[in-house]
Amino acid sequence: MGNDMANYFYEDVFKSAIHDLESFYKEEYAFRVKVNYSDNYWQHASIVGRNENSTIRFSSDCCSQRINDSRDLFVALLIVCHELAHFLNHHNYFISSEDEDNRIIEAWADNFGSKIFMVLITFGEKTSDLCKKFEVPEHAGDRVNLIGDAFKKLCNMFYRNESKKYHYRIERMMHICAGISSFLQFYWGRLDIQLTVDIYLRLYESSGMYDIIETDLEFFPPSNDNFDKIIDIHFPLQNNQPAITLGLKKQYRKYIDTAFLKDLSMIKDYRRVFYQTAIAQAEKYEVSENLKEFFEDKLKELG
Ligand SMILES: [Zn+2]
Repeated sequence: MGNDMANYFYEDVFKSAIHDLESFYKEEYAFRVKVNYSDNYWQHASIVGRNENSTIRFSSDCCSQRINDSRDLFVALLIVCHELAHFLNHHNYFISSEDEDNRIIEAWADNFGSKIFMVLITFGEKTSDLCKKFEVPEHAGDRVNLIGDAFKKLCNMFYRNESKKYHYRIERMMHICAGISSFLQFYWGRLDIQLTVDIYLRLYESSGMYDIIETDLEFFPPSNDNFDKIIDIHFPLQNNQPAITLGLKKQYRKYIDTAFLKDLSMIKDYRRVFYQTAIAQAEKYEVSENLKEFFEDKLKELG
């Protein structure tokens, strides 16, 4: 790595990511992310203000963190993409005092944010330049390993298991995994459960988080949250428009469109196909019996 690497900071990554995301929208929609890079609020990053005043903010401490390597680059990207997911989905237009609603919104920000992450490192001009500069590997599997590694660092920096407003780390990892596999499935054009399992294993293995899973599972069991609420929450935010944030160029819509269908039967049909494919693949690839049963139960639940 050359000397020009010496002076990159989180703020540069945030700005590149936001610039790239704005370029994914048609010009006539003039889509702009409202953002503040220098406040003194204790939280490193969040979204503040209501409705059209929604603004992403980063603390100056967070912005001035130095990027030393590809892992730091990915940590900064994970941070900004989570907030961008809140912004695109108008989460600050929604008010609820229910912890479950807040957890579901955070889960969606993790899931949707990791799709934005994948779109940015794949198609974003400035973000791709940064990836080259910091020698991010080309291979999709190696990139997923690096995300796992970055997630571990992020957990140590900021995520705790004590807030009722978030899912525990193990479940957050699952939401991130779901976002990455959704992106790759659309990118490669095939539904592949083996791929999802592979991504999940890579995220855990490379992050070295296997050791904390057992402890986490014992003290922090997965939530029983009702994830159908994702639709209940987002559909009204769409306000009878084709999407919550309008103007996304066609080539990015299959990855990060904020379009929600009210018709649950469509979603159920999609899930049914997904679970059936998963079961068929579980048989074919001899993945664990538990996993197959898990998908069989899910299929039964759909009725
Ligand atoms: Zn959040």
